[in-house]
Amino acid sequence: MELETVIGLEIHVQLNTKTKLFCNCDNDAFGAKPNSRVCPVCMGFPGMLPVLNKEALEKGALIGAALGCEIKSFSKFDRKNYFYPDLPNGFQISQFDQPITEKGKLEIEVDGVIKKIGITRAHLENDAGKLTHESDGTLCDYNRAGTPLLEIVTDPDLRSPEEAQILAKEIQKIVRFVHASDADMEKGMMRFDASISLRPRGSKKFYSRTEIKNLNSFSSLLKALKYELKRQKKLWETDQVSTSETTVGWLDEKQQTQLLREKESANDYRYFPEPDLPPVTFSQEEIKKIKELIPELPLAKYHRYQSEYGISAQDALKLSESEKLYVFFEKSADLSGNPKKVAGLILSVVLADSQWEVSKITPEHLSDVINLQEIGKISSSAAKEIVIEAMETGEAVEDIIETKGLEQKSDSEEIESWVDEVIAQNPQVVDAICFGGKPKMIQFLMGKVMQKTKGQANPPMVMQTLKEKLKV
Ligand SMILES: [Zn+2]
Repeated sequence: MELETVIGLEIHVQLNTKTKLFCNCDNDAFGAKPNSRVCPVCMGFPGMLPVLNKEALEKGALIGAALGCEIKSFSKFDRKNYFYPDLPNGFQISQFDQPITEKGKLEIEVDGVIKKIGITRAHLENDAGKLTHESDGTLCDYNRAGTPLLEIVTDPDLRSPEEAQILAKEIQKIVRFVHASDADMEKGMMRFDASISLRPRGSKKFYSRTEIKNLNSFSSLLKALKYELKRQKKLWETDQVSTSETTVGWLDEKQQTQLLREKESANDYRYFPEPDLPPVTFSQEEIKKIKELIPELPLAKYHRYQSEYGISAQDALKLSESEKLYVFFEKSADLSGNPKKVAGLILSVVLADSQWEVSKITPEHLSDVINLQEIGKISSSAAKEIVIEAMETGEAVEDIIETKGLEQKSDSEEIESWVDEVIAQNPQVVDAICFGGKPKMIQFLMGKVMQKTKGQANPPMVMQTLKEKLKV
């Protein structure tokens, strides 16, 4: 029997707001002393009342809209009850049946084919604190308790672990493009829960799924789904398909999943409307304003770079990866009028330095280098050298050329005299080229001329002169 994979994702992204979701505590607690970014509200002290953070609400709605969701004119908060030491209130404030955004569609490209993935909903909720388990006990840090999260839930439209990873990467780019989350996975700002099940191809029915909790990197998302897919395939092959939903964790060090529990149902959480927060409303005018904030999204950029600039899909994907990169690329391309050359220099030289973002290079540098190369004033190897120097010093291109003596020599008399010298110094090679049936050895002489001139001689002119002199 041929089986089909069914995957859905729940993605939690931390919103990069100034303060937490329901209090005035600093939301940027990275590296801060444990329990130094807390107050009676986010510590769940009796009688404390939450006040909704407007910035979090707008950023959450903005991400939802960028994922193609509808921003609801009416939504509300609910209490999700569960007891765990990282949750000071004993409940999480989330959104149950009326989220701020829902019913989206997001396009991804899988092996060159566009696929639309449904976004069920994207809703706001507060994060829990962080527990660190030590041999003699557990440490609780509540700095993260109350941080605003947007939970993005996809429809079960993904058909392979690879597709799930592509979607997750696309969402990371989008939340960054709209400046609503830094989505830095190493800091836990983006985390995934993935549900996976199998079914006979052609079937519309959903079978019991396994939910893999708390995946915190793209690679663990991929590996865990691949592992679970293999495990479930075996169960199908041996007629042991599970009828109950299970929750598992991913053990990175063992590269396998581990059973955590049979899945809770929504009932177990005893959701009820949050009595301390009024419902959220957006006017049509407010919704329109939020939608206007959506910039050109990564996939659109990726397609435009290919159609408008004629660069390859692979290069377009790389250049549309981050805002710093695409702003730099687009400015340099506009200034120089030569996007292909700009793309080439950025990908082969600029990005070779992982610290390029803090380097001193500007779009003007790249544009100058390309223009001077076009008119033959500098060679392609000099162009690379200038870019590297500009990244380090930020000096003007003309100054770098002068200090380093990188100007290409295109004076035909000068070139002729260098060629003559090299021919005179290498009689055996000349013999081999002219009479020994080894015309390719002309490259050796070419190399000698370039060496003699420290790369400054115009290469096509040198070759032309060599061929004329040797009559080949
Ligand atoms: Zn607080």
